[in-house]
Amino acid sequence: MQQVYDVIVIGGGPGGVGAAIESKVLGLEKILVIEKGDNHSQTIRKFYKDNKRVDKDYQGQEVEIKGNVQFLDGTKESTLDYFDELIDNEEIDIAFNTEVEKIEKRDGMFFVTTANAGYTAKNVIIAIGRMGKPNKPSYKIPLSIRQRVNYNLEKCTQAEKIVVVGGGDSAVEYAVYLSNTNNVTLNYRRTEFPRINDINRQDLKDAIGYEKLRPRLGCNILSLENQDGLVKVNYDDGYSVVYDRAIYAIGGTTPVEFLRKCGVELDENKQPIIDDNFETKSAGLYIVGDLAVDSGGSIAIALNHAFKAVTHMLKG
Ligand SMILES: Cc1cc2nc3c(=O)[nH]c(=O)nc-3n(C[C@H](O)[C@H](O)[C@H](O)COP(=O)(O)OP(=O)(O)OC[C@H]3O[C@@H](n4cnc5c(N)ncnc54)[C@H](O)[C@@H]3O)c2cc1C
Repeated sequence: MQQVYDVIVIGGGPGGVGAAIESKVLGLEKILVIEKGDNHSQTIRKFYKDNKRVDKDYQGQEVEIKGNVQFLDGTKESTLDYFDELIDNEEIDIAFNTEVEKIEKRDGMFFVTTANAGYTAKNVIIAIGRMGKPNKPSYKIPLSIRQRVNYNLEKCTQAEKIVVVGGGDSAVEYAVYLSNTNNVTLNYRRTEFPRINDINRQDLKDAIGYEKLRPRLGCNILSLENQDGLVKVNYDDGYSVVYDRAIYAIGGTTPVEFLRKCGVELDENKQPIIDDNFETKSAGLYIVGDLAVDSGGSIAIALNHAFKAVTHMLKG
């Protein structure tokens, strides 16, 4: 007979790990996390630079942790270590390198399908975030320069001329960090950065003040072209500038097709419909973390979602 899980958690980022820990601590036994990467927390691993400061109150949002995961300020490495420790201590079962393709509900049970297997659960928590598909600009990126147009810092080397595009904490952190070893422009369509936290605001002020970084604010990019194998950026102020690399840090997209295949109802803006307990219209199916907010998610927010969803699930 196939094992019936009390809860299957899809996605092993902060929301998913948090949901699994809360499920265990609050008394559930048969818990499985399914993660498409080869380790937990793929967004943190791929998009955070090494030694990145990790702020609990990210994007200036103060969050009081409600549940059992006592997440504090730290670094990329200390955050990953902390999640490792939680997973080990609570003996959380995680299926790695396993991507969920769809979920079906029949007779009150959920059937979770991956490429190679099927799982059955009484409840499912979706915590797959948005960074599986980072937001791309609306204009075309010529194929010949795609290697030079990136969404994280993996390909950056030193002494490159780089434009970082975006106005949130991640764009500012990327730009300030790169400015230590590269020639960096920070381009944002607005003239101010209303969403960034105080530390990043000060870092940005210092980097501009010491002329380590060039701000190009209140200005949009109209198009990209290939110029001699480099990235030519055409701005709407009439100027064009050639860079070795462009990095877009403009958030991620909602996995609409995936949510449809999971039977999640979407609103007119193609966002999942969930109630205050993060339950979808399908009883027992929850969405937590970045996917549960329009924008501005954070690790602490994802952990609080997980606690609330699991608490509600246990009452059901
Ligand atoms: C550059 C950057 C810097 C940031 N800095 C901070 C910070 O300092 N402090 C802070 O609080 N927040 C920060 N954030 C935001 C924070 O990382 C997110 O809010 C948080 O990771 C959201 O957690 P999540 O669990 O919802 O999603 P994610 O962390 O995105 O995790 C989703 C997981 O689901 C997996 N997955 C996706 N699809 C499937 C599938 N079909 N099947 C199985 N698994 C799947 C992914 O591989 C991934 O591991 C930052 C974000 C970025 C991009």
